[in-house]
Amino acid sequence: MTLRLFNTLSGQLDDLVPADGKALRMYACGPTVYDYGHIGNFRTFLQVDVLRRFLKLTGIAVRHVMNITDVDDKIIRNATAAGLPIGEYTARFEKAFFEDLESLQVERPEIIARATEHIPRMVELVQKLAAAGAAYQTEDGSWYFRLAAFPEYGKLSKKDLGGMEDGARVDLDEYEKDSARDFALWKAAKPGETSWDTAIGRGRPGWHIECSAMAMEFLGESFDLHAGGEDLMFPHHENEIAQSESVTHKPFARHWMHVRFLLVDGRKMSKSEGNFYTLRDLLLKGYKASAIRLALISVPYRHQLNFTFDSLADATNAIDRLRTFHQRLTAGSFVEGANPALQAAAEKAQADYLAAFSNDLNTAEARAPIFDLIRTANTAMDQGQLLAADRDAILAVLASFDAVFCVIEDRDAEPTRRALEWAEQAGRMADVAPELLTRQGLTDEAIDALVAERTLAKKQRNFARADQIRNELAEKGIVIEDSKDGVRWKRK
Ligand SMILES: [Zn+2]
Repeated sequence: MTLRLFNTLSGQLDDLVPADGKALRMYACGPTVYDYGHIGNFRTFLQVDVLRRFLKLTGIAVRHVMNITDVDDKIIRNATAAGLPIGEYTARFEKAFFEDLESLQVERPEIIARATEHIPRMVELVQKLAAAGAAYQTEDGSWYFRLAAFPEYGKLSKKDLGGMEDGARVDLDEYEKDSARDFALWKAAKPGETSWDTAIGRGRPGWHIECSAMAMEFLGESFDLHAGGEDLMFPHHENEIAQSESVTHKPFARHWMHVRFLLVDGRKMSKSEGNFYTLRDLLLKGYKASAIRLALISVPYRHQLNFTFDSLADATNAIDRLRTFHQRLTAGSFVEGANPALQAAAEKAQADYLAAFSNDLNTAEARAPIFDLIRTANTAMDQGQLLAADRDAILAVLASFDAVFCVIEDRDAEPTRRALEWAEQAGRMADVAPELLTRQGLTDEAIDALVAERTLAKKQRNFARADQIRNELAEKGIVIEDSKDGVRWKRK
Protein backbone atom coordinates (compact mmCIF):
# COMPACT_ATOMS: atom_id res chain seq x y z
CA MET A 1 0.00 0.00 0.00
CA THR A 2 1.66 3.22 -1.18
CA LEU A 3 0.80 6.62 0.23
CA ARG A 4 -0.23 9.16 -2.40
CA LEU A 5 0.58 12.52 -0.82
CA PHE A 6 0.11 15.97 -2.31
CA ASN A 7 3.47 17.46 -3.20
CA THR A 8 3.54 21.26 -3.13
CA LEU A 9 6.61 21.24 -5.37
CA SER A 10 5.11 19.16 -8.19
CA GLY A 11 1.57 20.45 -7.60
CA GLN A 12 0.10 16.93 -7.69
CA LEU A 13 -0.33 13.73 -5.68
CA ASP A 14 2.93 11.78 -5.76
CA ASP A 15 3.87 8.42 -4.24
CA LEU A 16 5.77 8.88 -0.99
CA VAL A 17 8.40 6.15 -0.75
CA PRO A 18 11.90 6.11 0.79
CA ALA A 19 14.47 6.70 -1.96
CA ASP A 20 16.90 4.32 -0.25
CA GLY A 21 14.22 1.64 0.10
CA LYS A 22 14.82 1.52 3.86
CA ALA A 23 13.68 4.53 5.88
CA LEU A 24 11.80 7.65 4.91
CA ARG A 25 14.08 10.59 5.57
CA MET A 26 11.99 13.58 6.54
CA TYR A 27 12.45 17.02 8.03
CA ALA A 28 9.70 19.04 9.68
CA CYS A 29 10.19 22.58 10.88
CA GLY A 30 9.90 22.70 14.65
CA PRO A 31 8.91 25.48 17.02
CA THR A 32 10.56 28.76 17.85
CA VAL A 33 10.59 28.40 21.62
CA TYR A 34 9.58 31.85 22.85
CA ASP A 35 6.02 31.15 24.05
CA TYR A 36 3.52 28.34 24.68
CA GLY A 37 2.30 26.51 21.59
CA HIS A 38 -1.19 27.34 20.29
CA ILE A 39 -3.61 24.94 18.66
CA GLY A 40 -2.67 26.18 15.19
CA ASN A 41 0.95 25.10 15.81
CA PHE A 42 -0.22 21.81 17.20
CA ARG A 43 -2.46 21.07 14.24
CA THR A 44 0.68 20.99 12.10
CA PHE A 45 2.64 18.80 14.52
CA LEU A 46 -0.36 16.47 14.85
CA GLN A 47 -0.80 16.07 11.10
CA VAL A 48 2.90 15.26 10.74
CA ASP A 49 2.39 12.74 13.55
CA VAL A 50 -0.50 11.20 11.59
CA LEU A 51 1.79 10.93 8.57
CA ARG A 52 4.58 9.20 10.46
CA ARG A 53 2.24 6.88 12.34
CA PHE A 54 0.56 5.85 9.09
CA LEU A 55 3.91 5.20 7.40
CA LYS A 56 4.95 3.02 10.32
CA LEU A 57 1.63 1.17 10.21
CA THR A 58 2.34 0.28 6.58
CA GLY A 59 5.81 -0.97 7.47
CA ILE A 60 7.91 2.05 6.48
CA ALA A 61 10.58 3.14 8.95
CA VAL A 62 11.01 6.86 9.51
CA ARG A 63 14.05 9.04 10.16
CA HIS A 64 12.42 12.28 11.19
CA VAL A 65 14.38 15.40 12.09
CA MET A 66 12.83 18.37 13.85
CA ASN A 67 14.64 21.59 14.66
CA ILE A 68 14.21 23.73 17.72
CA THR A 69 14.75 27.39 16.88
CA ASP A 70 16.30 28.64 20.10
CA VAL A 71 17.78 31.88 18.80
CA ASP A 72 15.96 34.45 16.64
CA ASP A 73 14.68 38.03 16.68
CA LYS A 74 11.69 37.34 18.93
CA ILE A 75 13.64 35.22 21.41
CA ILE A 76 16.32 37.86 21.81
CA ARG A 77 13.67 40.57 22.26
CA ASN A 78 11.65 38.59 24.82
CA ALA A 79 14.64 37.27 26.77
CA THR A 80 16.05 40.78 27.01
CA ALA A 81 12.69 42.06 28.27
CA ALA A 82 12.60 39.25 30.85
CA GLY A 83 16.22 39.97 31.87
CA LEU A 84 17.27 36.36 31.18
CA PRO A 85 20.02 34.76 29.10
CA ILE A 86 18.37 33.30 25.98
CA GLY A 87 19.24 29.72 26.98
CA GLU A 88 17.39 30.08 30.24
CA TYR A 89 14.47 31.78 28.55
CA THR A 90 14.05 29.15 25.81
CA ALA A 91 14.59 26.11 28.09
CA ARG A 92 11.29 26.79 29.82
CA PHE A 93 9.32 26.91 26.58
CA GLU A 94 11.13 23.97 25.05
CA LYS A 95 10.19 21.86 28.07
CA ALA A 96 6.59 23.04 27.82
CA PHE A 97 6.53 22.23 24.10
CA PHE A 98 7.59 18.62 24.64
CA GLU A 99 5.14 18.21 27.50
CA ASP A 100 2.39 19.46 25.19
CA LEU A 101 3.42 17.04 22.43
CA GLU A 102 3.33 14.23 24.96
CA SER A 103 -0.14 15.30 26.12
CA LEU A 104 -1.32 15.12 22.52
CA GLN A 105 0.34 11.73 21.96
CA VAL A 106 2.60 13.18 19.28
CA GLU A 107 5.54 10.82 18.81
CA ARG A 108 8.97 12.28 19.38
CA PRO A 109 10.97 12.63 16.14
CA GLU A 110 14.05 10.41 15.91
CA ILE A 111 16.31 13.48 15.89
CA ILE A 112 15.78 16.82 17.61
CA ALA A 113 18.28 19.50 16.68
CA ARG A 114 18.71 22.79 18.52
CA ALA A 115 19.91 25.62 16.34
CA THR A 116 22.42 26.88 18.90
CA GLU A 117 24.13 23.47 18.97
CA HIS A 118 24.81 23.42 15.22
CA ILE A 119 26.35 26.84 14.55
CA PRO A 120 29.53 25.45 12.90
CA ARG A 121 27.42 23.67 10.23
CA MET A 122 25.62 26.92 9.45
CA VAL A 123 28.88 28.85 9.21
CA GLU A 124 30.22 26.18 6.85
CA LEU A 125 27.16 26.52 4.62
CA VAL A 126 27.50 30.32 4.47
CA GLN A 127 31.16 29.85 3.48
CA LYS A 128 30.15 27.45 0.69
CA LEU A 129 27.51 29.89 -0.52
CA ALA A 130 30.07 32.67 -0.56
CA ALA A 131 32.48 30.48 -2.54
CA ALA A 132 29.68 29.76 -5.03
CA GLY A 133 28.98 33.47 -5.44
CA ALA A 134 25.56 33.17 -3.81
CA ALA A 135 26.36 35.04 -0.59
CA TYR A 136 27.92 38.39 0.16
CA GLN A 137 28.90 40.33 3.25
CA THR A 138 27.70 43.85 3.98
CA GLU A 139 29.62 46.61 5.72
CA ASP A 140 28.24 45.82 9.19
CA GLY A 141 29.56 42.24 8.90
CA SER A 142 26.24 40.50 8.14
CA TRP A 143 25.91 37.96 5.32
CA TYR A 144 23.10 37.86 2.79
CA PHE A 145 21.90 35.38 0.20
CA ARG A 146 22.09 36.79 -3.33
CA LEU A 147 18.70 35.96 -4.82
CA ALA A 148 19.83 36.75 -8.33
CA ALA A 149 22.18 33.74 -8.04
CA PHE A 150 19.22 31.33 -7.88
CA PRO A 151 16.92 31.75 -10.90
CA GLU A 152 14.60 28.97 -9.73
CA TYR A 153 13.56 31.01 -6.67
CA GLY A 154 9.78 30.78 -6.24
CA LYS A 155 9.41 27.25 -7.67
CA LEU A 156 7.84 25.92 -4.46
CA SER A 157 5.31 28.63 -3.63
CA LYS A 158 4.67 29.42 -7.33
CA LYS A 159 4.50 33.07 -6.37
CA ASP A 160 4.85 35.68 -9.02
CA LEU A 161 7.99 37.34 -7.79
CA GLY A 162 7.95 40.11 -10.36
CA GLY A 163 8.90 42.68 -7.76
CA MET A 164 12.33 41.14 -7.31
CA GLU A 165 14.86 43.90 -6.99
CA ASP A 166 18.51 43.08 -7.35
CA GLY A 167 20.32 43.88 -4.15
CA ALA A 168 17.25 44.83 -2.06
CA ARG A 169 17.67 43.25 1.35
CA VAL A 170 15.66 42.11 4.33
CA ASP A 171 17.19 41.17 7.65
CA LEU A 172 14.04 40.09 9.54
CA ASP A 173 13.67 36.38 10.28
CA GLU A 174 10.03 36.51 9.18
CA TYR A 175 8.51 38.60 6.45
CA GLU A 176 5.53 38.32 4.15
CA LYS A 177 6.44 40.52 1.23
CA ASP A 178 5.50 39.18 -2.15
CA SER A 179 8.50 40.72 -3.75
CA ALA A 180 11.58 38.70 -2.97
CA ARG A 181 14.59 40.18 -1.25
CA ASP A 182 18.12 39.09 -0.51
CA PHE A 183 17.73 37.60 2.96
CA ALA A 184 20.04 37.42 5.96
CA LEU A 185 22.13 34.27 6.38
CA TRP A 186 24.21 35.57 9.26
CA LYS A 187 23.53 38.64 11.36
CA ALA A 188 26.46 40.60 12.71
CA ALA A 189 26.46 40.92 16.50
CA LYS A 190 24.74 43.96 17.93
CA PRO A 191 25.84 45.20 21.37
CA GLY A 192 24.43 43.04 24.15
CA GLU A 193 23.04 40.34 21.83
CA THR A 194 23.90 36.66 22.04
CA SER A 195 26.53 35.93 19.41
CA TRP A 196 29.16 33.43 18.31
CA ASP A 197 32.72 34.16 17.26
CA THR A 198 33.24 32.36 13.95
CA ALA A 199 35.29 32.33 10.75
CA ILE A 200 32.65 34.52 9.07
CA GLY A 201 32.64 37.03 11.89
CA ARG A 202 30.94 37.51 15.25
CA GLY A 203 27.19 37.13 14.99
CA ARG A 204 24.31 34.69 14.92
CA PRO A 205 22.55 32.67 12.23
CA GLY A 206 19.42 33.78 10.40
CA TRP A 207 16.41 31.53 10.82
CA HIS A 208 16.40 30.05 7.32
CA ILE A 209 19.99 28.82 7.30
CA GLU A 210 19.35 26.69 10.42
CA CYS A 211 16.95 24.39 8.67
CA SER A 212 19.11 23.95 5.55
CA ALA A 213 22.22 23.17 7.58
CA MET A 214 20.58 20.77 10.02
CA ALA A 215 18.44 18.98 7.43
CA MET A 216 21.51 18.24 5.31
CA GLU A 217 23.59 17.33 8.37
CA PHE A 218 21.21 14.57 9.41
CA LEU A 219 19.51 13.56 6.16
CA GLY A 220 22.05 14.24 3.42
CA GLU A 221 21.98 16.71 0.55
CA SER A 222 18.81 15.18 -0.92
CA PHE A 223 16.06 13.62 1.14
CA ASP A 224 12.50 12.32 0.84
CA LEU A 225 10.15 14.80 2.49
CA HIS A 226 10.05 18.25 4.03
CA ALA A 227 6.97 19.25 6.01
CA GLY A 228 5.66 22.34 7.77
CA GLY A 229 2.75 24.71 8.17
CA GLU A 230 1.51 26.52 5.06
CA ASP A 231 2.71 29.82 6.54
CA LEU A 232 6.29 28.59 6.17
CA MET A 233 6.08 27.93 2.43
CA PHE A 234 7.13 31.49 1.65
CA PRO A 235 9.66 32.75 2.32
CA HIS A 236 11.12 30.18 4.75
CA HIS A 237 10.94 27.01 2.64
CA GLU A 238 11.69 28.86 -0.56
CA ASN A 239 14.82 30.20 1.15
CA GLU A 240 15.80 26.75 2.43
CA ILE A 241 15.68 25.46 -1.15
CA ALA A 242 17.70 28.39 -2.49
CA GLN A 243 20.43 28.06 0.18
CA SER A 244 20.75 24.30 -0.16
CA GLU A 245 20.49 23.84 -3.91
CA SER A 246 22.86 26.73 -4.67
CA VAL A 247 25.56 24.68 -2.95
CA THR A 248 24.63 21.08 -3.82
CA HIS A 249 22.98 21.52 -7.25
CA LYS A 250 20.74 18.61 -6.22
CA PRO A 251 17.06 18.64 -5.29
CA PHE A 252 16.93 19.48 -1.54
CA ALA A 253 13.68 17.69 -0.58
CA ARG A 254 11.83 15.75 -3.27
CA HIS A 255 8.44 16.01 -1.61
CA TRP A 256 6.94 18.99 0.26
CA MET A 257 3.95 18.69 2.58
CA HIS A 258 2.16 21.80 3.86
CA VAL A 259 -0.51 21.75 6.54
CA ARG A 260 -3.23 24.35 6.18
CA PHE A 261 -4.04 27.02 8.70
CA LEU A 262 -6.94 26.60 11.06
CA LEU A 263 -9.70 29.06 11.83
CA VAL A 264 -11.35 29.44 15.23
CA ASP A 265 -15.08 30.10 15.09
CA GLY A 266 -14.69 30.96 11.42
CA ARG A 267 -12.06 33.63 11.97
CA LYS A 268 -8.31 33.81 11.95
CA MET A 269 -7.03 33.00 15.43
CA SER A 270 -5.54 36.04 17.12
CA LYS A 271 -5.01 37.36 20.61
CA SER A 272 -6.82 40.60 19.78
CA GLU A 273 -9.90 38.71 18.48
CA GLY A 274 -10.11 36.82 21.79
CA ASN A 275 -10.14 33.45 19.99
CA PHE A 276 -6.53 32.47 20.66
CA TYR A 277 -5.98 29.17 22.48
CA THR A 278 -2.90 27.36 23.66
CA LEU A 279 -3.21 23.65 24.41
CA ARG A 280 -3.01 24.51 28.10
CA ASP A 281 -5.95 26.92 27.85
CA LEU A 282 -8.15 24.10 26.57
CA LEU A 283 -6.96 21.57 29.15
CA LEU A 284 -7.76 24.05 31.93
CA LYS A 285 -11.25 24.47 30.49
CA GLY A 286 -11.70 20.77 31.21
CA TYR A 287 -11.32 19.31 27.70
CA LYS A 288 -9.48 16.03 27.44
CA ALA A 289 -6.20 15.90 25.56
CA SER A 290 -7.53 13.00 23.46
CA ALA A 291 -10.54 15.09 22.34
CA ILE A 292 -8.26 17.96 21.35
CA ARG A 293 -6.10 15.52 19.38
CA LEU A 294 -9.09 14.03 17.59
CA ALA A 295 -10.64 17.43 16.80
CA LEU A 296 -7.36 18.68 15.33
CA ILE A 297 -6.69 15.62 13.16
CA SER A 298 -10.19 14.72 11.97
CA VAL A 299 -10.15 17.34 9.22
CA PRO A 300 -7.63 16.33 6.51
CA TYR A 301 -4.44 18.38 6.53
CA ARG A 302 -5.03 20.19 3.25
CA HIS A 303 -8.51 21.37 4.27
CA GLN A 304 -9.16 24.39 6.38
CA LEU A 305 -10.19 23.29 9.85
CA ASN A 306 -12.72 25.48 11.61
CA PHE A 307 -12.08 24.84 15.28
CA THR A 308 -15.11 25.36 17.55
CA PHE A 309 -16.12 24.20 21.00
CA ASP A 310 -18.85 22.17 19.30
CA SER A 311 -16.17 20.30 17.37
CA LEU A 312 -14.45 19.54 20.70
CA ALA A 313 -17.72 18.27 22.15
CA ASP A 314 -18.21 16.05 19.06
CA ALA A 315 -14.70 14.67 19.46
CA THR A 316 -15.39 13.99 23.15
CA ASN A 317 -18.53 12.03 22.22
CA ALA A 318 -16.75 10.10 19.47
CA ILE A 319 -14.01 9.04 21.89
CA ASP A 320 -16.62 8.02 24.42
CA ARG A 321 -18.23 5.74 21.85
CA LEU A 322 -14.90 4.25 20.83
CA ARG A 323 -13.85 3.56 24.42
CA THR A 324 -17.24 2.19 25.51
CA PHE A 325 -17.30 -0.12 22.50
CA HIS A 326 -13.72 -1.26 23.07
CA GLN A 327 -14.47 -1.97 26.71
CA ARG A 328 -17.62 -3.89 25.76
CA LEU A 329 -15.54 -6.12 23.48
CA THR A 330 -12.70 -6.71 25.90
CA ALA A 331 -14.85 -7.22 29.01
CA GLY A 332 -17.58 -9.33 27.42
CA SER A 333 -17.61 -13.10 26.99
CA PHE A 334 -18.38 -14.47 23.56
CA VAL A 335 -19.29 -17.89 22.20
CA GLU A 336 -16.57 -19.60 20.12
CA GLY A 337 -16.93 -19.32 16.37
CA ALA A 338 -17.11 -16.74 13.61
CA ASN A 339 -20.01 -14.90 12.00
CA PRO A 340 -19.19 -14.55 8.27
CA ALA A 341 -21.08 -11.24 7.97
CA LEU A 342 -19.05 -9.69 10.79
CA GLN A 343 -15.80 -11.10 9.49
CA ALA A 344 -16.53 -9.45 6.15
CA ALA A 345 -17.54 -6.17 7.85
CA ALA A 346 -14.27 -6.08 9.79
CA GLU A 347 -12.24 -6.79 6.68
CA LYS A 348 -14.03 -4.08 4.71
CA ALA A 349 -13.62 -1.51 7.49
CA GLN A 350 -9.88 -2.20 7.61
CA ALA A 351 -9.49 -1.98 3.83
CA ASP A 352 -11.52 1.26 3.60
CA TYR A 353 -9.59 2.73 6.50
CA LEU A 354 -6.22 2.09 4.87
CA ALA A 355 -7.44 3.22 1.45
CA ALA A 356 -8.62 6.57 2.87
CA PHE A 357 -5.26 7.18 4.49
CA SER A 358 -3.38 6.22 1.32
CA ASN A 359 -5.37 8.85 -0.50
CA ASP A 360 -3.53 11.95 0.72
CA LEU A 361 -4.04 11.12 4.42
CA ASN A 362 -7.78 11.60 4.37
CA THR A 363 -8.41 11.37 8.11
CA ALA A 364 -12.13 12.18 7.78
CA GLU A 365 -12.72 9.30 5.37
CA ALA A 366 -10.52 7.02 7.45
CA ARG A 367 -12.72 7.55 10.54
CA ALA A 368 -16.01 6.77 8.87
CA PRO A 369 -15.64 2.99 8.28
CA ILE A 370 -14.58 2.46 11.89
CA PHE A 371 -17.76 4.07 13.24
CA ASP A 372 -19.84 2.08 10.72
CA LEU A 373 -18.23 -1.08 12.06
CA ILE A 374 -19.04 -0.07 15.63
CA ARG A 375 -22.72 0.33 14.73
CA THR A 376 -22.85 -3.05 12.99
CA ALA A 377 -21.00 -4.82 15.78
CA ASN A 378 -23.09 -3.25 18.57
CA THR A 379 -26.28 -4.46 16.88
CA ALA A 380 -24.81 -7.93 16.44
CA MET A 381 -23.74 -7.99 20.11
CA ASP A 382 -27.22 -6.95 21.25
CA GLN A 383 -28.59 -9.91 19.29
CA GLY A 384 -25.93 -12.33 20.55
CA GLN A 385 -24.56 -12.81 17.05
CA LEU A 386 -21.05 -11.58 17.68
CA LEU A 387 -18.74 -14.53 18.27
CA ALA A 388 -15.23 -14.88 19.73
CA ALA A 389 -13.41 -14.77 16.39
CA ASP A 390 -15.42 -11.68 15.41
CA ARG A 391 -14.34 -9.96 18.59
CA ASP A 392 -10.71 -10.72 17.75
CA ALA A 393 -11.09 -9.46 14.18
CA ILE A 394 -12.78 -6.24 15.30
CA LEU A 395 -10.24 -5.64 18.07
CA ALA A 396 -7.51 -5.93 15.43
CA VAL A 397 -9.23 -3.23 13.34
CA LEU A 398 -9.48 -1.00 16.42
CA ALA A 399 -5.80 -1.53 17.16
CA SER A 400 -4.91 -0.48 13.64
CA PHE A 401 -7.19 2.58 13.97
CA ASP A 402 -5.55 3.52 17.25
CA ALA A 403 -2.04 3.09 15.84
CA VAL A 404 -2.70 6.36 13.99
CA PHE A 405 -5.58 8.10 15.78
CA CYS A 406 -4.29 7.15 19.23
CA VAL A 407 -7.36 8.04 21.28
CA ILE A 408 -8.93 4.74 22.43
CA GLU A 409 -6.48 3.95 25.19
CA ASP A 410 -7.28 6.42 27.96
CA ARG A 411 -4.16 8.46 28.76
CA ASP A 412 -6.06 11.65 29.60
CA ALA A 413 -5.44 11.86 33.34
CA GLU A 414 -1.74 12.81 33.12
CA PRO A 415 -2.08 15.79 30.72
CA THR A 416 -4.83 17.26 32.87
CA ARG A 417 -2.88 16.70 36.05
CA ARG A 418 0.16 18.35 34.49
CA ALA A 419 -1.86 21.31 33.22
CA LEU A 420 -3.28 21.89 36.71
CA GLU A 421 0.17 21.72 38.25
CA TRP A 422 1.35 24.28 35.69
CA ALA A 423 -1.67 26.52 36.33
CA GLU A 424 -0.79 26.61 39.99
CA GLN A 425 2.82 27.63 39.28
CA ALA A 426 1.87 30.09 36.54
CA GLY A 427 -0.87 31.81 38.53
CA ARG A 428 -3.56 30.61 36.14
CA MET A 429 -5.85 28.86 38.67
CA ALA A 430 -8.59 31.41 38.00
CA ASP A 431 -8.86 29.99 34.46
CA VAL A 432 -9.51 26.43 35.62
CA ALA A 433 -13.06 25.18 35.01
CA PRO A 434 -14.75 24.50 38.39
CA GLU A 435 -15.97 21.04 37.25
CA LEU A 436 -12.39 20.12 36.50
CA LEU A 437 -11.25 20.99 40.01
CA THR A 438 -14.03 18.88 41.49
CA ARG A 439 -13.28 16.00 39.17
CA GLN A 440 -9.57 16.10 39.95
CA GLY A 441 -10.32 15.74 43.65
CA LEU A 442 -10.65 12.00 43.00
CA THR A 443 -7.80 9.76 41.90
CA ASP A 444 -8.47 6.50 40.05
CA GLU A 445 -7.50 4.56 43.18
CA ALA A 446 -9.93 6.57 45.32
CA ILE A 447 -12.73 5.90 42.82
CA ASP A 448 -11.90 2.19 42.67
CA ALA A 449 -12.07 2.05 46.46
CA LEU A 450 -15.46 3.80 46.56
CA VAL A 451 -16.83 1.54 43.82
CA ALA A 452 -15.65 -1.51 45.76
CA GLU A 453 -17.24 -0.17 48.93
CA ARG A 454 -20.51 0.33 47.05
CA THR A 455 -20.44 -3.24 45.71
CA LEU A 456 -19.91 -4.54 49.23
CA ALA A 457 -22.70 -2.32 50.56
CA LYS A 458 -25.08 -3.73 47.95
CA LYS A 459 -24.07 -7.27 48.83
CA GLN A 460 -24.85 -6.51 52.45
CA ARG A 461 -28.15 -5.01 51.31
CA ASN A 462 -27.10 -1.59 52.60
CA PHE A 463 -28.73 0.16 49.65
CA ALA A 464 -28.77 3.57 51.33
CA ARG A 465 -24.95 3.63 51.53
CA ALA A 466 -24.66 2.24 47.97
CA ASP A 467 -26.87 5.02 46.61
CA GLN A 468 -25.02 7.63 48.62
CA ILE A 469 -21.72 6.59 47.05
CA ARG A 470 -23.23 6.59 43.57
CA ASN A 471 -24.55 10.14 44.09
CA GLU A 472 -21.32 11.37 45.55
CA LEU A 473 -19.41 10.11 42.53
CA ALA A 474 -22.00 11.48 40.09
CA GLU A 475 -21.54 14.92 41.64
CA LYS A 476 -17.86 14.68 40.82
CA GLY A 477 -18.49 13.64 37.24
CA ILE A 478 -17.95 9.89 37.72
CA VAL A 479 -20.56 7.65 36.14
CA ILE A 480 -21.03 4.11 37.42
CA GLU A 481 -22.42 1.49 35.08
CA ASP A 482 -23.67 -1.85 36.34
CA SER A 483 -23.59 -4.59 33.73
CA LYS A 484 -23.74 -8.34 33.74
CA ASP A 485 -19.96 -8.33 33.42
CA GLY A 486 -19.49 -6.29 36.58
CA VAL A 487 -19.27 -2.66 37.58
CA ARG A 488 -17.51 -0.08 35.40
CA TRP A 489 -16.95 3.60 35.95
CA LYS A 490 -15.87 6.45 33.75
CA ARG A 491 -15.24 10.14 33.99
CA LYS A 492 -17.90 12.20 32.27
ZN1 LIG B 1 12.44 25.35 8.81
